[in-house]
Amino acid sequence: MGFSAALQGESSHTALLTRQDGELRLLDTMRRVLVARAKCDRDYAAALTHLAHTAAKMDNNDVDGALDQSQLHKAWRVMVEGLEEWSSVMRQNADTLVLDTVEKLAALITEKRASRKVYYEEHQRITNEVSRLQEAVGKSKNNYEQALELYKTSKTKYEDQYLKGKPGRKLDELKERYQKACRKLHQVHNDYVLLLCEAADYERDFRTVLLPGLLEYQERVQEDMIDKWRCILREVWELSDTSQGKFAQLQTEIGASVTAISPKAEYSIFSDVNKSSPPEPVTFEFCRDLLGDGVGSLQAGQLAVDSLTVDSLRIKLNDVEHRLRDVTAELREKQNLLNQHETEVVNIRKNSLQDSNIASRLPVLKRASDVLHRELNELRCKESWLQHQHSIIHDPLASLGCEEAPQPWEAAQAHVNGESHQRSDSLSLKSRSAAIKELLRKPFNRSSSKAGSHSPTSTPPQTPSRPPTEERSTPPDMGSPHTTPEGHHTEGLAVNGIPELTYDPDRCLEDEQWFHGVLPREEVVRLLVEEGQYLVRETTRNDEQQVVLSVCWGSHKHFIVQTTPEGHYRFEGPAFPTIQELILHQHQCGLPVTNKSGAILRTPIFRERWELNNDDVELRDKIGRGNFGDVYKARLRDSGLEVAVKTCRVTLPDEQKKKFLQEGRILKQYDHPNIVKFIGICVQKQPIMIVMELVPGGSLLSFVRNHKGQLAVKQMMGMCVDTASGMAYLESKNCIHRDLAARNCLVGHHNVVKISDFGMSREEEEYIVSDGMKQIPIKWTAPEALNFGKYTSLCDVWSYAVLCWEIFSCGEVPYHGYSNTKAREMIDSGYRMLAPPNTPDEMYQLMLKCWQYDPENRPHFPDIYAAVDTIYSTL
Ligand code: ADP
Repeated sequence: MGFSAALQGESSHTALLTRQDGELRLLDTMRRVLVARAKCDRDYAAALTHLAHTAAKMDNNDVDGALDQSQLHKAWRVMVEGLEEWSSVMRQNADTLVLDTVEKLAALITEKRASRKVYYEEHQRITNEVSRLQEAVGKSKNNYEQALELYKTSKTKYEDQYLKGKPGRKLDELKERYQKACRKLHQVHNDYVLLLCEAADYERDFRTVLLPGLLEYQERVQEDMIDKWRCILREVWELSDTSQGKFAQLQTEIGASVTAISPKAEYSIFSDVNKSSPPEPVTFEFCRDLLGDGVGSLQAGQLAVDSLTVDSLRIKLNDVEHRLRDVTAELREKQNLLNQHETEVVNIRKNSLQDSNIASRLPVLKRASDVLHRELNELRCKESWLQHQHSIIHDPLASLGCEEAPQPWEAAQAHVNGESHQRSDSLSLKSRSAAIKELLRKPFNRSSSKAGSHSPTSTPPQTPSRPPTEERSTPPDMGSPHTTPEGHHTEGLAVNGIPELTYDPDRCLEDEQWFHGVLPREEVVRLLVEEGQYLVRETTRNDEQQVVLSVCWGSHKHFIVQTTPEGHYRFEGPAFPTIQELILHQHQCGLPVTNKSGAILRTPIFRERWELNNDDVELRDKIGRGNFGDVYKARLRDSGLEVAVKTCRVTLPDEQKKKFLQEGRILKQYDHPNIVKFIGICVQKQPIMIVMELVPGGSLLSFVRNHKGQLAVKQMMGMCVDTASGMAYLESKNCIHRDLAARNCLVGHHNVVKISDFGMSREEEEYIVSDGMKQIPIKWTAPEALNFGKYTSLCDVWSYAVLCWEIFSCGEVPYHGYSNTKAREMIDSGYRMLAPPNTPDEMYQLMLKCWQYDPENRPHFPDIYAAVDTIYSTL
């Protein structure tokens, strides 16, 4: 509805005028605000320009080029330059605002004022005319009434005079007055009629033409001005819109430079340019010049354990034990915290990613986990060197047992007499707790004078003679649970084939072939298969070391050797001063060990060839760090053979130690050029160890990383062939490795790959995990194992393809840049890694087959071996 139809009434007229006044006030306010705004923008632009200059100057001070090539630095430069351009555009816009836009606004104000005036006056004028006519009509009516009155009176007077019949001057006067009144009345009548006509015409025109016309005109004028006003506001908007035009272009440029920052790539050129060799190892060796020809009993690199030092060593040991406990507790605490963080991250990713408040905890948790990882690494180092310190101090003290510490001058004398090696060997090599040592050394003490008769460089006297190492390094026949006991210089064979036991007081318990050290119960059970077979071993219960007799009698029975108050040993029968005598008695008397068990000792089971003495192995350099402890390069004392030895941390709980030995138990059955060879285990004392062939090239992962760009495709393919060959062998033995990855393979001479790290392996066709999946290598593990805990050799097939991917990518991390959870999701939704450069196409096709979601669709290792071997020979 337009103005002319709606706004004719008086109140609308007043409202229209009020509106005009409001608009005029608004225009004025706008004008003043825009002028002030332009001033603000100019000031802001000036401040930005200043800032940009300062930033540029500060940046130019970085003259050493430390940040050349840095994408991050480039992005910063674009930002600083953008700042200056931004301020210049802002200044130009402010100028335009004042010089152009505000001027237009002022002109609009003038125009609006003028239009209000015109409207007001016009409206006044046409409405006044209606009033004027109304007034004139009223006046004319009065005149009409007066003339009519006069006419009537003069007529009456004239008629009265006339009727009196008296002609004369008076009648003439009355007649003239009557005629005059009559004329006047007629004239007034006509004027009235004309005026009424004029007034009616005007009034109609006023309503239908003049007022609507004025309002229509006013409407157009107002609309016209609103349009101008809108254009002015549009200009203001455009001039201050930082999301458009030049501003937007600047933002896009800055955005692109920021997006180009890649945390991974940022240091790659830097690393190439600043490449350097790692720091040379610094050796800390005892300076032998210090001792020259000898300073009393002191020996290079060995603790002096004598009456002068024993107390301080005990205090030190105590201190180390305290620190070790603290470090272990801290380790556990931090590990728990880390586990909590990781669980929280998984939960957030699964359930709360939509909730931005909760999701914002992700980066915080990630950073906290990174810090924890670093702290854990440091704590592990601390734990390791404290353990080392512990064993350095603890072992000689323990070997001292209840004996008094020698006087330094006695030790010096012994040294002069050539006995020092024997002493120091026995000090440095003994690692049994004082109590058990005392127990074991009892018979030995009685004839200790004989100890000195051994050559100083020979193995310690308690080590029995053993077959040559070469013979031992071959794993025993997997078919039989134990081999025939080796000949032993103290035992003969009775006529009925049962070994005849003898007692030699010079031999300690450790020397007896039927003593198996800390061999775990599971192994013991494997060794004792026939009725009456038995062996003796050692175990720890509630931190107390105990000697146990294990016998196969119906089931497997284990008897703890009891100690009498006099320090003798017994079961239910008589007590003996040594355990050897007790066992000999029990073997010879033919009576049950206990009445309840009825178990009779018939055949002692001697140590297997692979049960080495800890003292047979001389640990040398540390070459790696495993889950359970450090890995060393070592030498077998008998043969000089170089071997690799995995040690198990002394402080680990028994359960973990059993897990550690599990790897040895599995490995010992295999003999294949691509499987690392088992040589033996050392369970005579702590630390327990697994001895394996030394594979000199270290882990496959570090090997491919260190040889990036140097390996030919054929060499890489050869590694895939080796691994497939080893895995085909394992599959034929029903062994599921479960942790096949480049980090768990080793590289030997001529780059031959050997599969290692059987810590997670299982000898089953199918293995279902039910106790959680905490330590699972997600990115290497097949989906059915992750989702249902179902492991078969076909899971190893999946891991094998990831391993091949690692080889061809020279040790890249699979699903690089994605978390375990994300990688899992991607795999479930069909994603598979791309072929690394230089992967032969047939090889990649094979990898894709190994990554079939359904295990049934994956090839088995014999087929894989055939396929990779063919690819290898075509290269
Ligand atoms: P764990 O199974 O306890 O984690 P690993 O088998 O991974 O221990 O061994 C840790 C590291 O020790 C390996 O990465 C490797 O560098 C080294 N290592 C292990 N076994 C041998 C070996 N037989 N020969 C040479 N180095 C080895």
